[in-house]
Amino acid sequence: MEKNVAVYLCQGCDIGRSLDIEGLRKVATDEYSIATCQEHPCLCGAEGRELIRQDVLGGVNAPVVAACSPRFMADAFTFDGARTERVNLREHVVWSHEPNDEDTQALAEDYLRMAIVRAQKADLPEPLDQEVERTILVVGGGVTGMTSALDAAQAGHDVVLVEKAPELGGWMARFTRHIPHAPPYRDPAPSDIADRIARIQAHDRISVHTGTQIERISGQPGQFAVSLRTNGTSKEIRVGAIVQATGWKPYDASRLGHLGYGRCPNVVTNVQMEEMLASGRLVRPGDGKPVRRIAFIQCAGSRDKDHLPYCSAVCCRVTIKQALTARELDPALEAYVLYKDIRTPGQYEDFYRRAQEDPGIFFTKAEVTGVEEVGDHDLRVAADDTLLGKHIGVEADLVVLATGMVPAAADGEAIRRYTDAKAVVAKGEAGAQLETAKATVEELAHLEGSAILNLEYRQGPDLPSLRYDFPDSHFICFPYETRRTGIYAAGCVRSPLDSQLAREDGSGAALKAIQAIECAANGTAMHPRWGDMSYPDFFLQRCTQCKRCTEECPFGTLNEDPKGTPQPNPIRCRRCGICMGACPERIISFKDYSVDMISSMIKAVEIPDEFEEKPRLLGLLCENDAYPALDTAGLRRIRHSANIRFIPVRCLGSVNVVWIADALSRGYDGVLLVGCKSGADYQCHFIRGSELMETRSTNIREKLKQLALEEERVRLEQLAIADFERLPEIINEFAAQIEEIGMNPFKGF
Ligand SMILES: Cc1cc2nc3c(=O)[nH]c(=O)nc-3n(C[C@H](O)[C@H](O)[C@H](O)COP(=O)(O)OP(=O)(O)OC[C@H]3O[C@@H](n4cnc5c(N)ncnc54)[C@H](O)[C@@H]3O)c2cc1C
Ligand code: SF4
Ligand code: SF4
Repeated sequence: MEKNVAVYLCQGCDIGRSLDIEGLRKVATDEYSIATCQEHPCLCGAEGRELIRQDVLGGVNAPVVAACSPRFMADAFTFDGARTERVNLREHVVWSHEPNDEDTQALAEDYLRMAIVRAQKADLPEPLDQEVERTILVVGGGVTGMTSALDAAQAGHDVVLVEKAPELGGWMARFTRHIPHAPPYRDPAPSDIADRIARIQAHDRISVHTGTQIERISGQPGQFAVSLRTNGTSKEIRVGAIVQATGWKPYDASRLGHLGYGRCPNVVTNVQMEEMLASGRLVRPGDGKPVRRIAFIQCAGSRDKDHLPYCSAVCCRVTIKQALTARELDPALEAYVLYKDIRTPGQYEDFYRRAQEDPGIFFTKAEVTGVEEVGDHDLRVAADDTLLGKHIGVEADLVVLATGMVPAAADGEAIRRYTDAKAVVAKGEAGAQLETAKATVEELAHLEGSAILNLEYRQGPDLPSLRYDFPDSHFICFPYETRRTGIYAAGCVRSPLDSQLAREDGSGAALKAIQAIECAANGTAMHPRWGDMSYPDFFLQRCTQCKRCTEECPFGTLNEDPKGTPQPNPIRCRRCGICMGACPERIISFKDYSVDMISSMIKAVEIPDEFEEKPRLLGLLCENDAYPALDTAGLRRIRHSANIRFIPVRCLGSVNVVWIADALSRGYDGVLLVGCKSGADYQCHFIRGSELMETRSTNIREKLKQLALEEERVRLEQLAIADFERLPEIINEFAAQIEEIGMNPFKGF
């Protein structure tokens, strides 16, 4: 596209009175020969916008707006047929530096140079034009999946609901009495699952496939090809998005021998207790005698680092429900609840109170130390009562273990490792690889047959997990999101939940699935770069099949041909640019974001020579958290060194190391990289960006050593969006450190 760049300099919001606008104009007109350069007292006002709009109508297609942060007024500066480049003169220059100062002016001029270069190099992205299927596939017909199916159908989508069991309903259909989810929150409620199943079966947009599993899924959002397997027969369908609502499995109680399970026939789990209550007869499994005294042991294996480190969220209320129901069946029966903490949040406190008021239910805060049989299958629970500070013994004829919920999912990456290792073992070629493969097969044998979605993705057949096999999701900020675009996890497969929250989850995931289909239809990116029309372009003639992009893409976007050449699936892509950062051949680019574009911006900055003794630093700032944090620092007028030039990047993982090499060889004295938190509690919007940058920066440090440059010249920092006070401190500390180290010896070469 032929570029017609014009520059618009805003004088509002302190810009006009803090900077030499004439100096900025000269950068545009004298250095870059820009024919149209206009100033205005308030560019975001109706008159200012009209000024630009008229120029766009007259042929300008790359307006450079030097005003406030691009995070503000995005709509005001969007013009049909043009790609606007914003220069952040307000937050990052005049509100965070000394007004009318030589260094502040130099900073503003460099930002303008960088913006003009980018405007010249970037093209206006165009949306992908693809045929899209609008049917939604829901895998799992428990309360979550049924809710997703009903909500998506009511929103006008056809739904295919796949359930592996012969009936719909999941666990809740097996429980006759439920925790109350409506006022007055006092008594166990009757089940309403049958109504929901009837509504599903009557809905003409929902097709139900029970006794069915997923054989294979290939393709991308809007174009998934799915093979369903029912009674040995396969059926092919096409869907646009997928909700995985495969729910939970009970924690394996055979690992709770210390609490009597497996040793004592009258020790049962809460799931077995549900079955006993549903039968309407409370008799001991060991000898058929009627139950008179029950001891409930809470957190049986939960909140325990040797078993399930997390809380399963419902067990306390389930025990209260079971104790009240048992007392309804036999008012002479007594129930003892031994708990670590009782967790009945919100209105469910009234449910707890109801049980406390019951004269036959006793609650004791205790650490259970053991369960033993005391003749004739009677039981004695030994515990340290942590309220009374005494050792106690509770006699009971039935012990119920409140065991937790485990996701009905397996980590797709682990399954892939297992399958790859099995293939190596099957080949049987001797060597160290064979020994490693055998060890992997042994370690992961429990994963045999555990795949649910059977995705034909290079990175594995199921959703990758972060911890405890829950599909990896940014739980706080982005629930339902997974690392596979257009596939959403909901209900107990995502997190332990009661059925009320599971339903809400089902609705949320249905909305995400609908959004995914709409984005695919519009040819735009899904979360978190909503609306972005750019996508990676691979110049595959120069690909060396190094597989870095296919391995590092956090979303499994790229498959590989047998030689290892990437096979892009642009609708799976989240547009993070991590593949672009990874590619050593630099053959991956976006229309408005490329290795060459950022290199040119880096080179556009004026580097003071060694005699001026003014260090010049480059900052590559993740646009998700770090860039907004610097904006907030500016809004609060917190100052930072004027020696640094920041370039926002889509994700720290999109940083190609050549940019750092370019900067240092160009004479920059240091490079600061700021991204989001990595690790188990990562905050990276693209999952692995900061983590990948950590690996790359170790290599960079090695390179610096080889060049006899101090490794401190490149610093990697991680921070959260709320760390806006810390960021200027980091910048100032880095600037001071570089001054101490001294100028880059390559300056001027
Ligand atoms: C003992 C106990 C009692 C409880 N009682 C209550 C209560 O009274 N009230 C309450 O609100 N909550 C209760 N809960 C919590 C409740 O069970 C969950 O909130 C609820 O089951 C979550 O529904 P779901 O659809 O996410 O999962 P599930 O109920 O597990 O449903 C998942 C469905 O997916 C299907 N599925 C699994 N794998 C596949 C596959 N590969 N292909 C196709 N289908 C598949 C399963 O067969 C199942 O039908 C209790 C929990 C426990 C442990
Ligand atoms: S831009 Fe990100 S999501 Fe897309 S292919 Fe590259 S690494 Fe994967
Ligand atoms: S990283 Fe680049 S060179 Fe390597 S496989 Fe991907 S496209 Fe090819």
